[in-house]
Amino acid sequence: MRSILLLAFLLAAGPALAQLPAASPAPAALLLRPAAVFDGETLHPGWAVLTEGDKIKAVGPAAQLSAPAGARTLELPGLTLLPGLIEGHSHLLLHPYNETPWNDQVLLESEALRVARATAHARATLAAGFTTARDLGSEGAGYADVGLKQAIEQGLIPGPRLLVATRALVATGSYGPKLSADVDVPQGAQEADGVDGLIRAVREQIGKGADIIKVYADYRWGPNEPSRPTFSQDELNLLVQTARNAGRPVVAHASTPEGMRRATLAGVQTIEHGDGGTLEVFRLMKQRGVALCPTVAAGDAIAGYRGWQKGTSPEPDRIQQKRLSLKAALQSGVELAIGGDVGVFAHGDNLREAELLVREYGFTSLQALRGLTSTNARLFQLPDRGQLKPGLLADLVAVSGDPTQNISALRQVKLVVKGGVVVEN
Ligand SMILES: [Zn+2]
Repeated sequence: MRSILLLAFLLAAGPALAQLPAASPAPAALLLRPAAVFDGETLHPGWAVLTEGDKIKAVGPAAQLSAPAGARTLELPGLTLLPGLIEGHSHLLLHPYNETPWNDQVLLESEALRVARATAHARATLAAGFTTARDLGSEGAGYADVGLKQAIEQGLIPGPRLLVATRALVATGSYGPKLSADVDVPQGAQEADGVDGLIRAVREQIGKGADIIKVYADYRWGPNEPSRPTFSQDELNLLVQTARNAGRPVVAHASTPEGMRRATLAGVQTIEHGDGGTLEVFRLMKQRGVALCPTVAAGDAIAGYRGWQKGTSPEPDRIQQKRLSLKAALQSGVELAIGGDVGVFAHGDNLREAELLVREYGFTSLQALRGLTSTNARLFQLPDRGQLKPGLLADLVAVSGDPTQNISALRQVKLVVKGGVVVEN
């Protein structure tokens, strides 16, 4: 009887509880007066930014902006103020593989332990100036990313605004961990197959809070073999259509030309990794408006864990392959998102991807900086951020020096504002 009453209460109260407004009052207006403002496209020395509530109110020459009554003025001499950075590919529920191999994280670490770690990861991400992250798979931690996102939104823990992919989708038998044929062990993603099975799984994930659907369009079926396409074209088409009907984009893990081609034809938003991409498939991506998130930092980190000493030992095949494919990608003109697959390496070290793109792959600092702000926002269809313009979210970072000239200036974070509130100072 008691449980029936409780159920009745929850059914009656549930929607109302979910709609309660956040308890905190609107933040006070902020007038930020740095040495220069990078608005997502261009550097403007002598500019200032005014916020009101959780939005940007005005951006322009400091002399033209005055603080309204009740506003707080922050003098930021020597600093560059820019939009909050956007991480394109994170796994807050993973930690570096040289601490604990991926298999052991999935099989041996409890979800409580993984969530506790993730709260620290979220804080480190925000402190590094990343106010938004696409978190592309909980890797065996179920829907813990949805709860993590809610905890951040409710102000219980500091962290970036999250777009979560929840469990991700893999073809049965293609993913891991794999022990022996005799035991079924929990997998790092949800297995689903066939048109019916995939539609159901996509809807289930969306119903439980997925902002993004992630699909593994190819993977290695066994150890020491190359990746091969997993899902058929029909399966991918239906999966993308189902997600699109619900207003969710699909991102595809793919590194083979055929896996990338099928994902592109199906209409995914981005392809993650793309290590085996050819000029032909990158041109198809460009033609279809599909962006590449090359995740060079993950490969760099893993090669290091396997003993590669950059500069002294010869470059592993995988790194050489990455250089060739990214060269082809740049030649094709495909759009590039910036995301490092952080989690493979330490959260808070998110800048590693952009730094590698500048130091080793021919990007300018300005290109990488636009990538982390306005370009990522555009490619991920987040029109409310990534630039400093009136009406957009007041997510701001102040750093020492000029990151348009030296991307590593982004390591010198002095201030983080999220939704008009100073969260790191
Ligand atoms: Zn990943």
